[in-house]
Amino acid sequence: MADPGPDTPLGEALHLGAADRRRLARLGLHTVRDLLFDLPFGWEEYGAPVTVRELRPGEPATVVGTLVAVGARRSPRRGMQLTEAVLQDEAGGRLRLVWFNQPFVAQRLERGQRLRVAGAVSRSRYDSWLEMRNPHHEPVAAPRRVGGLMPKYHLTAGLTSRRMARWVEQLLPLADRLEDPVPPQTRERKGLWGVAEAVRRGHQPSSLSEWRRARERMGYAELLELQAAFLLARRRIAAERATPIPYRQEVIEAFKANLGFQLTHAQRRAIWEVYKDLQQPIPMNRLINGDVGSGKTAVAAAAAAMAWAAGLQTAVMAPTEILARQHLAKFRAYLEPAFDLRVELLVSGLPTAERRRVLEAAAQGSCSVLIGTHALIEADLRLHALGLAVVDEQHRFGTRQRELLRQKSPERPHFLAMTATPIPRTLALALYGELAHSVIDQMPPGRTPVETRVVAPEQLEAAYRLVREEIARGRQAFVICPFIEESEAVAARAATAEFERLRREVFPDLRLALVHGRLRDKDQVMAEFAAGASDVLVATPVVEVGVDVPNATVMLIEGADRFGLAQLHQLRGRVGRGAHRSYCLLLAEDPSERSLERLQLLASTADGFRLAQEDMRLRGAGELLGSRQHGVSDEAMEALLKPELLSEVRQEAERLLTEDPELQRWPQLWQAAERRLERTSVS
Ligand code: ADP
Ligand code: MG
Repeated sequence: MADPGPDTPLGEALHLGAADRRRLARLGLHTVRDLLFDLPFGWEEYGAPVTVRELRPGEPATVVGTLVAVGARRSPRRGMQLTEAVLQDEAGGRLRLVWFNQPFVAQRLERGQRLRVAGAVSRSRYDSWLEMRNPHHEPVAAPRRVGGLMPKYHLTAGLTSRRMARWVEQLLPLADRLEDPVPPQTRERKGLWGVAEAVRRGHQPSSLSEWRRARERMGYAELLELQAAFLLARRRIAAERATPIPYRQEVIEAFKANLGFQLTHAQRRAIWEVYKDLQQPIPMNRLINGDVGSGKTAVAAAAAAMAWAAGLQTAVMAPTEILARQHLAKFRAYLEPAFDLRVELLVSGLPTAERRRVLEAAAQGSCSVLIGTHALIEADLRLHALGLAVVDEQHRFGTRQRELLRQKSPERPHFLAMTATPIPRTLALALYGELAHSVIDQMPPGRTPVETRVVAPEQLEAAYRLVREEIARGRQAFVICPFIEESEAVAARAATAEFERLRREVFPDLRLALVHGRLRDKDQVMAEFAAGASDVLVATPVVEVGVDVPNATVMLIEGADRFGLAQLHQLRGRVGRGAHRSYCLLLAEDPSERSLERLQLLASTADGFRLAQEDMRLRGAGELLGSRQHGVSDEAMEALLKPELLSEVRQEAERLLTEDPELQRWPQLWQAAERRLERTSVS
């Protein structure tokens, strides 16, 4: 094996088995660089060592002592592997240590070993011993971590911060080989550490302020890379050619005349911005940023109409079949009566004959608007003259998928993306800086706001009663299970258990359906619910996004305090789509004042942008977009909370690229930006 360097796969550099490699990959950590850049997001404070006598159940602590017993066994009840050890302190006090399903721990521990352990203390229910479960532990001889602090790393099932810290320690000598994307002059001017120093101090700081400074530097570097990447992407797009789509007054007039409603001011502005782009001979690259229900589809349809008038086709890609079908219905209603054109659907489940017919219509050009799922980017689709590619809920698609969609035609099409969540401006610029933005910050008139209530645990019965009453009136309800981060499999299991409980104990007389990410026919379950075949749809948070069920009037969200406000708002948007009065019930698991107050904000406003902004302030921007799918680190997200920083970074990137358009003097920044263009959501 060659000497490991920043690009060496972690599995190779650390001699990992397949399971650990998979776990790290799940966290987005593939190379040595990835792991070194993944600084702890916090520290567990256990304080200075105390004696066993001083321990209090329920409180975290650090204890130093000697192992007097170590053993491994299977727990009789649930077949778990247990490692048990007894630690004795100087004063003779004894503490039991228990590790679950971590057999490797037993292999490393030996009687007589001097150990420092840290964790939460509890008292065993069986024999009233004091215990620590899954404590952090290290030989006393090992170098100490910050003042008794233990690093906290983002984890996935099967990993511990302790293991992550050990891996980091192994790789830390390679920090010197990391390239620094931040040019020295920029570093000097901003007083930033070099990359090696930031990585070393970030993982093993001697004070918290050192750790913070390291994170700031990493965040700055990342934003700089991103902004440089956006500038490069924009420049490349500007060098491409697309067929201009001329503006025609009579087309928009016919479009509006057929709608059956007045476009809002915000929609008209967005349409106008789109039309201006379409007239250019370079590809449009625009994001429509608007709240659930703000009417983004009509904007996309208006663009499709203009493309049709220019003799060009439009392809619309949605993340699920049910969403694609809903788009089909809307695009047909918005376009077919007004224009002599056909809107067709391409999804993977179509009968062969129908599929062939649609493919042919697309290839010949008799189908002007093609709506679909991933099926659109499958190999056999060719479009006669694709002029406009639209992607809905664009965060669910990777760069490659979007690129494949655009390649369905010999000409470069114009590109329009739509978000599912309103994103605050700073964040939009930081994450999607290569796109131009249209904001729809206004809702169509005549909506009755969803009545939102925060439900404390003792009011649960009343919440169930409301669900019953609505169903008795012929309406339907969603029940969303608490947000679970571990994995989709765990979430699916939890949702199934909750479904069973609700069906047996709470609503035995109602028709319940279950949908979660692991289900194969989830589209069908949702379609059946939309058609009224069940009363209550129990769902995990991720799956139901975007479904339009006008008859559903109750959205009951369990464990609402585990969600971000923007997420809750998103879920709430699933009801209140019909003529009936609708309710959103937020069940709080944690009835603390702070958590109730946060939820109360949701009850008091329907403004998605405001809620997103508030989320960003309260929980950090990373949370806003859902569990780290966006490919940007917490450090960068934190840096965004300083409003002036982003414009500073943008200026810096612009300056560097103006002085030196190919970044020949700063190849490391160039490479880092290129890596971003390949790996993140940048198109
Ligand atoms: P989203 O932005 O969430 O994609 P949609 O485009 O699905 O929103 O629109 C939500 C609903 O509002 C649709 O039923 C649509 O027909 C309707 N709608 C859109 N614009 C208006 C408007 N200006 N006035 C009234 N209803 C509208
Ligand atoms: Mg939509």
